[in-house]
Amino acid sequence: MADMSVVGEQRVLIKGGRGGRGNQHFATATRQSPRYSEKGAIGKDYDIILELKLIADVGLIGFPNVGKSTILSMVTNANPKIANYHFTTLSPNLGVVRNKFEQDFVLADIPGLVEGASEGIGLGHNFLRHIERTKVLIHVVDAAAVEGDDPLENIEKINNELKAYNEKLMDRPQVIAANKMDIPGSDENYKKIVSYYEPKGVRVFPISAAANQGLNELIDYVGTLLADYPKDIVFEEDYEEYIEPDAEHHPFTITKYDDNYYVVEGVGVEKMIGYTNIDTEKGFAFFQKYLREKGIIDELEKKGIQDGQTVKIYNLEFDYYK
Ligand code: GDP
Ligand code: MG
Repeated sequence: MADMSVVGEQRVLIKGGRGGRGNQHFATATRQSPRYSEKGAIGKDYDIILELKLIADVGLIGFPNVGKSTILSMVTNANPKIANYHFTTLSPNLGVVRNKFEQDFVLADIPGLVEGASEGIGLGHNFLRHIERTKVLIHVVDAAAVEGDDPLENIEKINNELKAYNEKLMDRPQVIAANKMDIPGSDENYKKIVSYYEPKGVRVFPISAAANQGLNELIDYVGTLLADYPKDIVFEEDYEEYIEPDAEHHPFTITKYDDNYYVVEGVGVEKMIGYTNIDTEKGFAFFQKYLREKGIIDELEKKGIQDGQTVKIYNLEFDYYK
């Protein structure tokens, strides 16, 4: 070996070798601190939205104050086996209903449906999303028209919101619960609803949730609808795959700001900055080569960069000199 004096070198004896009958070769392995290292890519922040979709068998829909919550509390209180889950007021309330056929089903009181919900008004989409995950809808209407509006119109308005949000919601079996039948004047509206909807095959049940009247009939009928429902229904999964931006296909951008400040951005550049340690000579050379080869220097010059002006590339800032 020519040079045995190199500090920090270790001589390793390698025996054998291809042509060598008893040949002895010496190889040197250098042990010294590396001249070049990579920093590892910049960590990434992801915003991940995990959405819990309600899967209730039956949803109570209708405008506010028609009596949805009252129905839920009545049919669930009627049976001690009922489990009530309370979410925040922005989330649906769930209850388990057991009817006389001992069919348990989950009933959801879906609040917050208002006109314009399908356009996102009043957190509308949040609630409409839950409706998507129910099999049967109980459409509750205030037959007494306590608030003065026409019950038939109200049913239509809610259905229009459903339709606008997702046409498929119109295929969901619907039952109309004409509520507040204990209030005088409700009967007339009830008859109107029946004559309009029953010919269309939509059953209408006169009830008084507050007085616990007519609820059993409603619940039993809903049970028969559920029994007819295909058991293996699979609701469409909403799944959006996150696709890592491809550095090769994401060119950089250069923005020139006042006071001669240039900002270079791009997936590829960001990655390069991540793995290049420009504090080392080799890393710095690589960095310069990258800027040149990718046309970033050309582009900076096209934008009129002058010696001494500042370039910022992510967490890196340097002054440009030709
Ligand atoms: P939601 O907004 O649809 O959940 O409606 P609620 O269940 O909170 O009821 C709204 C109001 O209507 C409350 O004051 C209830 O007491 C009242 N209400 C509900 N059902 C009936 C009913 O059958 N008859 C009468 N008279 N009032 C009722
Ligand atoms: Mg309510």
